[in-house]
Amino acid sequence: MMAQYLALREDAGDALLFYRMGDFFELFFEDAKAAAAILDIALTTRGEHDGQPIPMCGVPVHSAESYLARLIRAGCRVAIAEQIETPDEAKARAKREGTPSSKVLVGRAIVRLVTAGTLTEEALLEPRRANVLVALTELRGSIGIAACDVSTGAMVLEECAPEMLGAALARIGPSEVVVPEDWANGPDEAIFRPRGTFASDAGADRLKALHAVATLDAFGDFSRAMLAAAGGLIAYLDHVGRGNLPLLLPPVRRTAEAGMAMDEATRASLEILESTSGGRNGSLIGAVDRCVTGAGSRLLAEDLSAPLLDHAAIEARLALVQFWRDRPIERAQLRDGLRAIPDLGRALGRVVAGRGSPRDLGQLRDGLSEAMRLHRWLSGAPDRPALLDDMLARLTGHGALTDLLGRALVPSPPTERSNGGYIADGYDAGLDELRATSGDARRAIAAMEARYRDETGIATLKIRHNGVLGYFIEVAARHADRLMAPDSGFTHRQTMKDAVRFNSLTLHEEAARIAEAGGHALAAEEAHFEALVAEITAARESIAATAAALARIDVAAANAERAAESDWCRPEIAEDTGLTITGGRHPVVEAALAQAGERFVANDCVLAQDNRLWLIGGPNMGGKSTFLRQNALIVLLAQAGCFVPATAARVGLVDRLFSRVGAADNLARGRSTFMVEMVETAAILAQATQRSFVILDEVGRGTSTYDGLALAWAVAEAVHSRIACRCLFATHYHELARLAETCEALSLHHVRAREWQGDLVLLHELAEGPADRSYGLAVARLAGVPDAVVERAKAVLEKLEATREATGGIAAGLGDLPLFAALRPEPQASPEQRLAEQLRAADLDALTPREALDLLYQWKRALPANKR
Ligand code: ADP
Repeated sequence: MMAQYLALREDAGDALLFYRMGDFFELFFEDAKAAAAILDIALTTRGEHDGQPIPMCGVPVHSAESYLARLIRAGCRVAIAEQIETPDEAKARAKREGTPSSKVLVGRAIVRLVTAGTLTEEALLEPRRANVLVALTELRGSIGIAACDVSTGAMVLEECAPEMLGAALARIGPSEVVVPEDWANGPDEAIFRPRGTFASDAGADRLKALHAVATLDAFGDFSRAMLAAAGGLIAYLDHVGRGNLPLLLPPVRRTAEAGMAMDEATRASLEILESTSGGRNGSLIGAVDRCVTGAGSRLLAEDLSAPLLDHAAIEARLALVQFWRDRPIERAQLRDGLRAIPDLGRALGRVVAGRGSPRDLGQLRDGLSEAMRLHRWLSGAPDRPALLDDMLARLTGHGALTDLLGRALVPSPPTERSNGGYIADGYDAGLDELRATSGDARRAIAAMEARYRDETGIATLKIRHNGVLGYFIEVAARHADRLMAPDSGFTHRQTMKDAVRFNSLTLHEEAARIAEAGGHALAAEEAHFEALVAEITAARESIAATAAALARIDVAAANAERAAESDWCRPEIAEDTGLTITGGRHPVVEAALAQAGERFVANDCVLAQDNRLWLIGGPNMGGKSTFLRQNALIVLLAQAGCFVPATAARVGLVDRLFSRVGAADNLARGRSTFMVEMVETAAILAQATQRSFVILDEVGRGTSTYDGLALAWAVAEAVHSRIACRCLFATHYHELARLAETCEALSLHHVRAREWQGDLVLLHELAEGPADRSYGLAVARLAGVPDAVVERAKAVLEKLEATREATGGIAAGLGDLPLFAALRPEPQASPEQRLAEQLRAADLDALTPREALDLLYQWKRALPANKR
């Protein structure tokens, strides 16, 4: 056994080896130690190797999936070595080969590698997340990317420049990446594969053969780099599936111009699919997703990861959202219908990959029938937008298949195929007969029990069944003698502690009838299963299209649902470089505040070519970051075809979105944080265009005051004058306000705050003009810094400010004007005075109840908190 094990171990490479022994997968040596630690299961020993006991652990085959899931999540790859012959076959082989049968070992082989990027099992996948495998290769200075979600077969080919690879991978979010073995430019955790598998000719040939076409032209115009990557991807799938390929749909070409560009840093800082702390909670998708199907959530994630740039395509999505927004009752009905639909794409993936269960066939039957029902229902709806018609066309055409599956399968087929019972009665007369035969025999056995009780006079005699003996007659030990008599007609089989077991000729005959019929019935069901799988495989593309159409409809209805929930609006998409957002809100922060019973203050943002850079000052915690991000998120949502959290929004199409956060917020990162900040900022200056939208949050904070101010100054100037794109720039450097003197399209704004008797009141409200002061000490007090320390700081500050007055401050050399002299606001009235003024000025009769409520909230916020 050891020789066989070690050969397989060698074959498994860096994967853990699951070695099948009966009802267990066993792991040995280092594999056992690693797995036992990750799975928290007992590590034992077995036998010896080189004089040492062999470490061993095992997992039961029937629950192997949950263990696999944990190993994969921990970053392992697992090779599954199955028994590829039965013990009887092994014995027959031994006889042929002349080996003594005591030495014979059941043949085993690795049938599959389980890796993070090649999963199809429901239990191993997250329903709401795509699971993407990526192959990369570089060809003449350009990188080919082949991406495939093996669970649904969707395959996308694209190409990019080496410096854009990081952004592309951040968009795709792969679970596993494979690259040629001698290529050093891939991501750190990439898996190396033989260079020869990344050949464009072979890639093209494999694709043509897979899809039975003479040329790939019908699918798109693929470059050699793309085809080479596709070759590497398919060869890897071959390798992990040991020749068994999963579902692969025709490749789709993605063009670089197709979408709004966002780099890795932008995605991370906007927390699109994951929050900084990891996970959906606190992310954009967490706050937006109201999909009722896993496939819908996966498509929404794709939409948000790759917002569009094509005006018509965005409008098409928005029109579909609008359609459902206007029809709340139908929307609710639709969502009820969708909720009941199984994950068609993934069921299809399993069936085509040869890992389908009868239950998967049932899911396809139910899902496709429901899709056709939705088609009939929605085809009658008036005023359908074009995208809905496109989708409707893909929901239908499965009549013959659903009819076949409907007749062939029992209502709820089992997940296990090995016990049969999933083909419906009446589908196959031969199968019905076999079942009738074994049914007859079972009834005969039941009758036999009664007869034997009569004949023997043993009322407790039972006919029972188990896996080892098959059918047998059992009586209590004290009655056994009667059946032991040579002429009793019973033959002894087994003596237990309290019972004795017998056989009889008639029982044997009936049992044989059951076994034979059962075996034939199983074989018949298997044959039907294979035939149904073949039918489904033949229809794979249209089934996948139906699954995709259902997902698109789910996403649109979910976006409508979300919009209705919080009164989001349909954005207007424009071709210019303006951005006008009225009453904008941050979906994540708003939801978090709502949970705490607090209200979010909506703010406007109006950028245009002649007022394209807003410099935003104001105290810490005043809402600057939130404002910056909410506007970026609104642009992103709009171009993803979603409604947006605002009362009105007009978005001039953004080609690239950049978001940068000053390094001080990112202390957790390893590299010099300031270095990171500057590398990321440099990328903006290199890549942004006039159509881009940039948000810069406290850039320059990661270094000394002078450096930081100088850099922030220079970056703001460059964004304003060289790139001339829309930009929101939050900063605590007052000195930057002086940029307004030279930059004609830059305007000053601040988040409002009040200090009242030493307490700080943050209004989270954006206003025009520069921030009057930093409120740093008030923020410190708010944060719980002891009064004595704050008092001391105040004294220090007064000294510093006196010096600044005298010298002109740190930006004194930048111009002749004294700092802010022209910009310093009027002395402020106290909050109470202001309140009184506003109350006096309010025209109560002209207010709607909603406005009145808003005013009340506003006033309440404006009031200083009670003194402690
Ligand atoms: P800054 O960037 O100015 O330091 P943040 O944007 O991080 O401030 O906001 C600090 C906190 O203030 C947020 O966590 C949120 O709770 C609250 N906040 C921000 N904006 C608003 C708003 N518009 N309405 C209500 N609360 C807000």
